[in-house]
Amino acid sequence: MRSAILSDVHANLEALEAVLQDADARKIENILFLGDAVGYGPDPNECVEILMKRCKVFLAGNHDWGVLGQTDITYFNEHARTAIGWTKGVLTKKNLKNLKSFLLQKEMEKEDMLLVHSTPKEPEEWHYLLTLWDAEINFHYFSKKYCFIGHTHYPFIIERLPSGELVTYKEKASKGEMERYIMNVGSVGQPRDGDPRASYAIVDDEKLEIVRVPYDVTAVQKKMRKAGLDSLLIERLAAGR
Ligand code: ZN
Repeated sequence: MRSAILSDVHANLEALEAVLQDADARKIENILFLGDAVGYGPDPNECVEILMKRCKVFLAGNHDWGVLGQTDITYFNEHARTAIGWTKGVLTKKNLKNLKSFLLQKEMEKEDMLLVHSTPKEPEEWHYLLTLWDAEINFHYFSKKYCFIGHTHYPFIIERLPSGELVTYKEKASKGEMERYIMNVGSVGQPRDGDPRASYAIVDDEKLEIVRVPYDVTAVQKKMRKAGLDSLLIERLAAGR
């Protein structure tokens, strides 16, 4: 079975629609979401509703929890904090309730995978998995063969060989029989790896793959300006940083 795994939509409707169109064109029906539906972008209600409708699994991210008051946002940077405040003001009661139903992590038995927004280690602490050393530690915090994450908005695939050696892939990896994997699927709505196109992952029986999808960045920026959102957040969309 093929799955599409999405993360970090951040209320960017145009990017979400472009990614879902791409997955539809490939006839992928199993869509999984790893968290941060809201924060930063101008369309939180629409994004929550579409995710609820289209995804089989939806997880919560730190921004979702921030909006719900379930996590301390004093450690968020000023731009993120302001965006959380704005989002709280526009989210409907129904969508706040929807967000509340999002899980912190999900184990999929048949697929042998763990889904989590930040890291398998203490997911509610929202750690960042940035280095190979972080990956090595986290491989000891899950027992499944595959772990899919988001949170850093930086896509990668890390393979752990039976010898313990770690190998990194940028876009695609063939599934090995004895190997284990941590894959960051990147961000749909606010990529930060220098490529402004939306990022998501496709997983099938043979491989793990990062897919990039162009979308109308200017349209989102226009809406953000109209909503009075932070100019740094508006500009970084075009650079993908
Ligand atoms: Zn995020």
